[in-house]
Formats: sequence, structure tokens, C-alpha cells
Amino acid sequence: MVLDDLGTSLRSSLDKLQGKSRLSESDVEEIVKEIQRSLLSADVDVSLVMELSDSIKSRALEEEPPGGTTAKDHVLKIVYEEMVELVGDSTELPLENQTILLAGLQGSGKTTSAAKMAWWFSKKGLRPAVIQTDTFRPGAYDQAKQMCERAEVDFYGNPDNDDPVDIARTGLEATEDADVHIVDTAGRHALEDDLIAEIEEIEGVVDPDRSLLVLDAAIGQGAKDQARQFEKSIGIEGVVITKLDGTAKGGGALTAVNETDSSIAFLGTGETVQDIERFEPSGFISRLLG
Ligand code: GDP
Repeated sequence: MVLDDLGTSLRSSLDKLQGKSRLSESDVEEIVKEIQRSLLSADVDVSLVMELSDSIKSRALEEEPPGGTTAKDHVLKIVYEEMVELVGDSTELPLENQTILLAGLQGSGKTTSAAKMAWWFSKKGLRPAVIQTDTFRPGAYDQAKQMCERAEVDFYGNPDNDDPVDIARTGLEATEDADVHIVDTAGRHALEDDLIAEIEEIEGVVDPDRSLLVLDAAIGQGAKDQARQFEKSIGIEGVVITKLDGTAKGGGALTAVNETDSSIAFLGTGETVQDIERFEPSGFISRLLG
């Protein structure tokens, strides 16, 4: 089965269906309740959970299981399909020349993700370059430079220049031999006007093929405001969820995906450049339900 990592209570509710060929309303209620419990504790937005619950309930009770299908397999298939609908497919990322702009608040993991993504593209046979425009956070330049050295990818930054827009422009020229340009930007502790003004200006100069919003897995419902603001100012095509190696399951990031009508591109699973995974629905679903 695609869902190999279900939480124990959900698994035991499903196990009660063993041998049954039909689902009763109370069977479905119990399963939906377990799913709700898992998703809410994984920080998935209540209204998204409610929508999902309604779809699962009505499909599980109305749809006729195909001949030979047990009640358990029938409901599992519906749960999986509806969960895929909720988390979405991964952001399309053609392996070709492109410019990617990273946005997000300070500490969300942008700089780390920039180097990780560059490493990922280099493993796919492309030549990536990271351009560090974060002049706001002390240490951002050194951190990006070191990580790019570890990832063995091109890097441009200028610690003596405090104009991020100028760094972006110069950086694109300086790394013109690269195929994939990943532009890291400065965050702030909160959504401040100067952050938005700065990233809009950088976006104007960089003209990215896609802008990705970087979110800490622990973001919870704070994702909504950020997603709205960045979507309005630069447009968001995908989300990167970081720190999934911790206890947070990243369900809050689904709010951002929903809010920006986008999808998830990458998952960050540690502090080193190799700790990156391309988003793939079934693993993420198992994590949310686990
Ligand atoms: P930025 O301010 O958005 O550029 O954030 P950074 O890239 O500097 O990341 C902030 C902190 O989170 C750093 O200490 C990173 O090492 C850490 N970090 C980033 N991504 C991950 C991740 O996927 N897992 C873990 N455990 N730590 C991460």
C-alpha cells in the first residue's frame, strides 16, 4: 500500500475493518476522526481538514467499492486520493537554464536551502550558481560562501556592498556561465515594509522563472500572512519546507500552498547541503498521518 507509515490509532481503526466488505457510517466517522487528529496536530489548517473530512466521508459512503475490494482497501484508496488532492503534486522544475528567487523570513532556512538546491541541481548535471543578496543578516555572506564551497557550486556575493539590488544585478553577470541561478534574499524577523520593497526590487532586476517561498516546518498558521504578502508582491510558484528533521510535520506550509495556489518543491531535512529531498506526495502524506 502507498501509505506505509500510518499512525497507530489510524491503523487500528482501519484494522477493525478487516473482513468487512461494506463500510458503515460509524466506521467512516471513526477513521475520519483519527485523520483529523493527526492532521490538526501536524498543524494543518482547520478549514482544510474539514474540507478533506467531508470529501472522504461522502466518497467512502457513496462510492461503490469495485468488485473484490475490501472495505479497508476502498477507504484507504479514498483517503490517499483525497490526501494527494490536499498536498498537491510537486512544483514543476524543468532541468534547464533558469533563475530561481528565494523569499522568506529570517531564519526560515533560505540560505541553507539555496546551497542545498544548488547541490541538487549539480547532481542532475546542471551548473548552478548561488547569488547571495542578503546584506541584512550578519554572517549570511560567509555562511552561503562556505556552504557553496561544500556543495562545490559557483557562488557570488559581495560583503563590501550593502545594496542587494546591485549585488543581484552584478551577481547574475558574474555567474553568466551557470545554467541555474539561485538568488538568495534577505529576510526580516517579521513582514516589514522594507523587506517587501527590497524583494520587489530584486525581483524586478532578476526576473526569475520561479519564486519559491521558504518556510520552517514549525510555521503553523503564520504561513497565511507570509504567503499572502509574498504572493502579492512577487508571485509564488512553490514552497520549500525546511527543518523536517525536527518534530514539526510541516502541515502549516499547506496553508501557504493553498493561499498561493502553488505546490511544494523541496523539503529540507538537515543542516548539510545534501539534506534536501524533492517533494513527493506519498512520503509527505505518511509523515502527516504518522
Ligand atoms: P535564513 O535566515 O532564511 O537564510 O536561514 P538559514 O539558512 O540561515 O537557516 C537558519 C537556521 O536553520 C540555520 O542554523 C540552519 O542551519 C538551520 N536550518 C536550515 N534548514 C534546516 C533543515 O532542514 N534542518 C535543520 N535541522 N536545520 C536547518
